[in-house]
Amino acid sequence: MGRAATATINLDAFRHNYRLAKSVAPEQKAIAIVKADAYGHGAVKLAFALENEADAFGVACIEEAIELREAGIKQPILLLEGFFTEDELPVISDNNFWCAVHSLEQIDIIARSQLNQPVNFWLKMDSGMHRLGVSPQDYRLAYDKLRSLPQVNEIVLMSHFADADAFGSAITAQQISCFEEISRDIDAPVSIANSAATMEHTSTRREFQRPGLMLYGSSPFEAAQPMAEQLQPVMTLTSEVIAVRELGPGDGVGYGHRFVCDGPTKVGTVAIGYADGYPRHAKDGTPVLVNGQRTRIIGRVSMDMLTVDLTHIDDARVGAKVELWGDNLLAAEVAPYCDTVPYTLFTGITRRVHKKYI
Ligand code: PLP
Repeated sequence: MGRAATATINLDAFRHNYRLAKSVAPEQKAIAIVKADAYGHGAVKLAFALENEADAFGVACIEEAIELREAGIKQPILLLEGFFTEDELPVISDNNFWCAVHSLEQIDIIARSQLNQPVNFWLKMDSGMHRLGVSPQDYRLAYDKLRSLPQVNEIVLMSHFADADAFGSAITAQQISCFEEISRDIDAPVSIANSAATMEHTSTRREFQRPGLMLYGSSPFEAAQPMAEQLQPVMTLTSEVIAVRELGPGDGVGYGHRFVCDGPTKVGTVAIGYADGYPRHAKDGTPVLVNGQRTRIIGRVSMDMLTVDLTHIDDARVGAKVELWGDNLLAAEVAPYCDTVPYTLFTGITRRVHKKYI
């Protein structure tokens, strides 16, 4: 019943991808990154899919962590961006969350706090991303300060890569050597690998990996990569053709008539648009599947609909099934036509899209 725009979320595929991430370093822990509502897939549902399996979950902020705890998730939950305001610290302690800390100022705030139980803090080093983290020069000092506080239980040394999805990146090599050099003398567990590093940089598979994108079945690499071949897409975004018309040479399609037919063209209107999260800037030629056959978007994506070329599609009529990305068309293939990456395609899906978990 109702509008057909649906994101079908395959929980077995999610589990398969987690197991794959874990298999590269089975002795180590793998934190399933489920921030941003599990990259748009639904954090509570996905966390429960790994209820007895994931070593821990990673989220961006306390609201996301509380959502999982209140839903009944028992595993450790790491706040990847740490705390934003002082009053979060008692909540972090009471819920036994793990918490990143990224500056000397934050360590002073922790020192002033009154906590019921000590917290596991993840001390973030700015090894080259230049976004969050204590500088390499101050890192040892920051560690010693943090270590001396009664509010602190365990400390994990962490950093984040700026360029791990580029093969042979000099930036990544530099970050690894900077992080290793400083952390070598500190007796504490280490966490540095995101998906790209988990898949490609074996030396970074340390005590805690932090895979995100790969769990959703998408490779961070544009080029082929051995482990990427084994990933299974988790989200399949589908809708239906709701109108069909025959146009002729010179006829324009949609807003601004961006696409103009150069011959007889059968045009299908599909019930999904940018208010559902399908990118408005998808170019003419962006691939879609209709009845399992490959065709292309023609005309500008509008708020609730988009238009596709049905000229060479068999059985192209109202009700025909359309796959925007998923099992048979990788989000990674669609993304470049929209000048973006799979991360934004997934996280952009809005609540108007019906989510179906299988
Ligand atoms: N660790 C941190 C600190 C992050 O911010 C992210 C995501 O941006 C991840 C891990 C997971 O990254 P990816 O989705 O590329 O695996």
